[in-house]
Amino acid sequence: MLELEEALARILAVLPAPESEAIPLGAAHGRILLDQVSAAAHLPAFDNSSVDGYAVRAADVAGADPAAPVRLRLVGRIPAGETFSGELAAGTCVRLFTGSPLPGGADAVVMQEDTRIQPDCPGDVLVLEPIRPWDNVRFRGEDVKRGATLIEAGEELTVGRMALLAAAGVGRVNAGRRPVAGLLATGSELREPGEPLEAGQIYESNRTGLAPLIEGSGAIVKVFPIVPDAPEATRTALGTALGECDVVLTCGGVSVGELDFVKSAFEQLGGTLQFWNVAMKPGRPFAFGRSGSKWLFGLPGNPVSAMVSFLLLARPALRRWQGAQAVGLPASLGVLAEPLANQGARRHFVRVTMDAAGNVRSAGLQASHALSSFALANGLVDVGPRTQLPAGTTVPVLRWE
Ligand code: AMP
Ligand code: MG
Repeated sequence: MLELEEALARILAVLPAPESEAIPLGAAHGRILLDQVSAAAHLPAFDNSSVDGYAVRAADVAGADPAAPVRLRLVGRIPAGETFSGELAAGTCVRLFTGSPLPGGADAVVMQEDTRIQPDCPGDVLVLEPIRPWDNVRFRGEDVKRGATLIEAGEELTVGRMALLAAAGVGRVNAGRRPVAGLLATGSELREPGEPLEAGQIYESNRTGLAPLIEGSGAIVKVFPIVPDAPEATRTALGTALGECDVVLTCGGVSVGELDFVKSAFEQLGGTLQFWNVAMKPGRPFAFGRSGSKWLFGLPGNPVSAMVSFLLLARPALRRWQGAQAVGLPASLGVLAEPLANQGARRHFVRVTMDAAGNVRSAGLQASHALSSFALANGLVDVGPRTQLPAGTTVPVLRWE
């Protein structure tokens, strides 16, 4: 049985290099950037005003006071998007708006609220307050210097990074192609939710839970019908999915029972299993295989095992397939509000709830089929074999969206 890290390393080691797609920036949310992008120019590109007001020489208004305003001659007006030719002379000012370029010779912007214009004297501005040099000025390059890295290769295009790239004038990016991921559930006992059940049958729930997790990893999910436990049906369904998808995820039928046909069907279709069984709970039965350029992730059938092994093994692979550097689940630190124990010989990823203050508690029954605790949980805590973590222990809590 492989340790989780070893299993993951073996998966990541054999994945193909990502395929590059040039796409408009606006369509790139959540995509993985394949090329580093640097700033072609300073941001801001020029010194500009952070307020609506008047460009001045700070020295001119050093003595301003509401009781003794300083009178400046208004010599121009620069709406955002326009420029001013010439230098601001002593004793003069120029009308500016937020984002207007600072005219040469000016070294501060007085807020409109600190000025007054007398109706009978519209060509003069009375400044009521003194100002320090460079107040209300946003400097060229203060946000980003020309040549600075805006985003590294292998990083995800978050909302903030997209806005930054747009501000830097980037219209298209090279992103990793999203794999098409086929999703199959195997089991003769499974019925679609909403259909009547006969004795011994259960509702199929794994595809409903896994499909959004697959989408959340960046892949395009293609959901296939339920596959009964029969060798021929399993081969046909797996063959169809392998033909139509880059990656196939199955759930169920990868254990050692005589009704577990996924591994043998995959081999009969020409695939090679790289390994199965990972030393983790929930989620021990797990098969990873290759068939030409296609990949199989055989997830366990038990619902929580299927989702946890997806999160810890298949999700990183789908992210790396698209070129992502960081592929692990995000983690935040929490403090155990109660002890967590693992009596078993495999490490246990315990479903927990973490509140806003960081207090971590078991989410309830931890059996592999127990979905009520998975529904409550907002994290997983890795508890080693035969380990007791006392209350008060600080632990990393693995999170997912
Ligand atoms: P298996 O690995 O096929 O032996 O399945 C293990 C357990 O998970 C059995 O109790 C199955 O009935 C259950 N199971 C398998 N697949 C699903 C599924 N897609 N939805 C809900 N339960 C499932
Ligand atoms: Mg089964």
